[in-house]
Amino acid sequence: MINASKTEAQGESAATRMARVAEIASKAADAVDRDARFPRETIDALKHERLLGVAIPVEFGGEGLSLAVVADLIVQLGQACGSSAMIYGMHQIQISSLASHGVASPWHCDYMRRIASEQLLMASATSEAGIGGNLRNSICAVEVADGRFSLAKDATVISYGAHADAILATARRAPDAASSDQVMTVIPADDKCALERRSVWDTLGMRGTCSDGFMLTASGDAAQIFPKPFSEIAAQSMLASSHICWAATWFGIAADAFARAQAFVKQAARKQPNVTPPGALRLSEAAAKLQEMKGHLVAAIHRFAVAERNDDDLSSISFAAEINALKVAASEKAVEIVQLAMLITGILGYKNGTPFSVGRHLRDVTSAMVMISNDRIHANTSTLLLMSRFNTRLGD
Ligand SMILES: Cc1cc2nc3c(=O)[nH]c(=O)nc-3n(C[C@H](O)[C@H](O)[C@H](O)COP(=O)(O)OP(=O)(O)OC[C@H]3O[C@@H](n4cnc5c(N)ncnc54)[C@H](O)[C@@H]3O)c2cc1C
Repeated sequence: MINASKTEAQGESAATRMARVAEIASKAADAVDRDARFPRETIDALKHERLLGVAIPVEFGGEGLSLAVVADLIVQLGQACGSSAMIYGMHQIQISSLASHGVASPWHCDYMRRIASEQLLMASATSEAGIGGNLRNSICAVEVADGRFSLAKDATVISYGAHADAILATARRAPDAASSDQVMTVIPADDKCALERRSVWDTLGMRGTCSDGFMLTASGDAAQIFPKPFSEIAAQSMLASSHICWAATWFGIAADAFARAQAFVKQAARKQPNVTPPGALRLSEAAAKLQEMKGHLVAAIHRFAVAERNDDDLSSISFAAEINALKVAASEKAVEIVQLAMLITGILGYKNGTPFSVGRHLRDVTSAMVMISNDRIHANTSTLLLMSRFNTRLGD
């Protein structure tokens, strides 16, 4: 149980509060994975510790934490439960869209205040039947009339859609708009929003994200639509925040698999003090890959922070190519590290329910390469590389 007297952000750092959440998430992780159920206890703990509004700007009641600090929180949670970390990461991506692009709109400012005070959980509906992971195109369209909008979207994947307090959905600006002329709208889960489940999320990994497919039907105030086109939101915040929050999740999972492998090797060393355990060499190899993954993630966070100071840089081809590289590299590296951890821990890692089990970790990280297909990202980057030069400078 959570000690209420220690919560409510009373001077405690977000990391201290997240440590308590991670403990709860860790205990539930195997059951969440086995039953493909929503990690309710973890999300309740995140709300209780007031960690859902930490990245909301201070003027709207949040703590104004930077993406660097938020990514660290995701890594902490990722070491306990991959699905919980992915949910928290995806929520933070939606917050970053609001914090970066909602401040000029009174409706979005008010909604940010609500997220911080009521600890609302935000989900996303960019994927659509017939579009797949090509989030810069939509088939569905918002219809706006008399200050109201309506939308019907065949959303193939909405993680924790049935549990979220609101969904940020993309759509074409109008029924006669081009497929890439998109807007994004906030859809609170109230009586003006209906979700009809179309598919069930029974997957290899990330089972607790409960990413069912839904027919999403909604109406509301036209002010819920972001004033900026989605193309700008995607280029200036969503692309980078998505790849950073996802990579942080995968890094957390890989780090926990590594820790289990390290514990295995240490135990073997204790049993035979004069013999170097056979897994020790592989452990060193895994450590190098983990360090590489961390270095790439830290560099990307820094790169985004620098780019945010300059709109031209933020919207540049080279920045998009650099951030795309984080996604593909992190998704591949995480799998390599967990596979090494399995090789080190052997049958005890392969089996469920041992202190060295890494099966859940392996299944969770395999989702990384299909979470917007690496091939799709490579295809995008290959076009960008025809128009840009690789930046070899080591400084800013
Ligand atoms: C854990 C998890 C959670 C998710 N949560 C959400 C969510 O909350 N909201 C949401 O909207 N979406 C979510 N998604 C969906 C995700 O972001 C992608 O949209 C989705 O995985 C893409 O679906 P797809 O593979 O069927 O489609 P596609 O992207 O169309 O890919 C299908 C196949 O075609 C190939 N392909 C397609 N285009 C190209 C190309 N240009 N070049 C080369 N190959 C190509 C790919 O390699 C792939 O094999 C989630 C995914 C995962 C794994």
